Amino acid sequence: MSSEHLLEVLNPATEEVVAAVAGASPADVDTAVTRAAGAQRTWAALAPADRARMLRRFAAVVDDHLEELARLEVREAGHLIGNARWEAGNVRDLLDYAAGGVERLTGRQIPVPGGLDVTILEPLGVVGVIAPWNFPLPIAAWGTAPALAAGNAVLLKPAETTPLTALRLAELALEAGLPEHLFQVLPGRGDITGDALVRHPGVAKIVFTGSTRTGTRVAALAAEQVKPVTLELGGKSPNIVFADADLKTAVDPFSFLDNSGQDCCARTRVLVQESVYDEVRALLADALAAVVVGDPADEKTQMGPLISRQQLDRVRGFVPDDAPALRGSAPDGPGFWFPPTVLTGERPDSRAACEEIFGPVAVLLPFTDEEDGVRLANDTPYGLSGSIWTRDVGRALRVSRAVRAGNLSVNSHSSVRYWTPFGGYKQSGVGRELGPDALAAFTETKNVFISTEGPAL
Ligand code: NDP
Repeated sequence: MSSEHLLEVLNPATEEVVAAVAGASPADVDTAVTRAAGAQRTWAALAPADRARMLRRFAAVVDDHLEELARLEVREAGHLIGNARWEAGNVRDLLDYAAGGVERLTGRQIPVPGGLDVTILEPLGVVGVIAPWNFPLPIAAWGTAPALAAGNAVLLKPAETTPLTALRLAELALEAGLPEHLFQVLPGRGDITGDALVRHPGVAKIVFTGSTRTGTRVAALAAEQVKPVTLELGGKSPNIVFADADLKTAVDPFSFLDNSGQDCCARTRVLVQESVYDEVRALLADALAAVVVGDPADEKTQMGPLISRQQLDRVRGFVPDDAPALRGSAPDGPGFWFPPTVLTGERPDSRAACEEIFGPVAVLLPFTDEEDGVRLANDTPYGLSGSIWTRDVGRALRVSRAVRAGNLSVNSHSSVRYWTPFGGYKQSGVGRELGPDALAAFTETKNVFISTEGPAL
C-alpha cells in the first residue's frame, strides 16, 4: 500500500467537494516528530508565565476568527451554525483555561525522615492527539490545550473527513506567536498517518477519541512500547426517566439528536418507568415530528446531515423500513440525511439497543422499578454518560452511585464542561480529560529526595 494519499473533503449537506488535502506519510510523521522534539525543548524552557501568556494570545487569536472557524466546521462537518460557533468558542475557552494552569502546575513536598522530598511534574515530550470527525474543533483542543500548557509539543491527526479546522488552528497558533513546529497538524488516514504516530518511538503519549474498535487497536500498539494512552471511546448512554419526573423536559429529543446523534454522550437508550411509558411515547412522537431537519447553515435548522455516505449506510443498517418506530422527516436529494427516529419494538438485547449507532436513532425501553432501571442502565459494555430524571433526591443520589458511567447528570442532559473531568468507565475509555487535573495527564511525576544528614563519613 502506498503511503501517498489525498483526502477529499465533502460538504455533508450537499456532497460537494470542499477541498483536497495531502495526507501525511510515515516519513512526514517522522520529520514532524523530530521538529516537534526540538520545539518542545525550547517551549518547556520558557518561564511558566511566558508560556501562559502565549497560550492566552492563541486563545485571543482563535476568538478573532470564531466566525471563520465556525463556517468551516459547517462546511466540512455539517454542524449547525449555532453549534459550530459554540464549538469554536469552546476551543478559545479550553486554551484560556489551560493557560491558567501553567503557573499552578505544582509538585508536592512530602514529609520523610532524613531529608526533604519533592515531586516535580515534567512534560512528557511530544504528544500525539488523534481526533474524530464528530466534534473536530473541541476534541482536538481537549488534548492539545492541556498538553501544550504542561510543556509538551503536540502532533494532531484530525479525522480524514474533517481536517480543515485543525489545519486552520495550526496557522492561528503561529499567528499567535507559538514556536514553529510546537503544534503541528498531520492530516491523513488513520491506518497510515494515525498508525505511524502511534508506532513512532519519539511520541511519548497518545490521546485517542473515536470508536472502541479502533481505540482497542491503538492501545494494543501503544502497549508494545509501554506508551501511555488516554482513550475516549464509544457510548450507549441511558436516559433513565422515573414516573415522577418532569416528563416533557426529561425526554427532550435533542438529548440524542444533537449533532445528528453523532455524539459519544448521546442518550440513545431512553429507559422509561412503565407507568408513564405511553405518555412518553406520545410526547416523543410529537417532538420528533416537529424537528426541523435541513441546511445546517440556516439558523432555524435544528438538525443537519450525517457526516458521510458510509455513516449514513451504517445508520440505515440499524433501522429496517418496517421496524416499529416514531419518525421525523429529512430532506431528499444530495446530502447524507436520516430522519430523527425512536425505535419502539426493540428488545434490550437487540443490536440497535446494544451497539453505538452514531446517528439520530434512539431506542425506547420500559423498566419496572428503581432496581430494574439501574440493571437496564448498566446492561451495556459502555459507561460514558447518562441522565437520571426524578424529583426524589434520595433516588437521584442512589441511582447516580449505582450507574457505572463517568459522566452523569441529574435532571439535566449535559455531559461535557471544560471545568470538570470527562471520561468513561468500562469500554468507554481509559483516563480523564478536561477539568482541574487535565494538565497532570500530560506530565511524568519525578520524585527527588534531598538528604539533610550531610555526607556519610
Ligand atoms: P475511528 O475510531 O476509526 O476514527 C477515529 C480516529 O482514529 C480518526 O482520526 C481515524 O482516522 C483514526 N484511526 C482510524 N484507524 C486508525 C489506526 N489504525 N491507527 C490510528 N488511528 C486510526 O472511527 P470511524 O470514523 O471509523 O467511525 C466509526 C464508528 O466509530 C462510528 O460510527 C461511531 O460509532 C464510532 N465513533 C465514535 C466516536 C466517539 O467520540 N465515541 C467518534 C467517532 C466515531 P480516519 O478518519 O482516517 O479513519
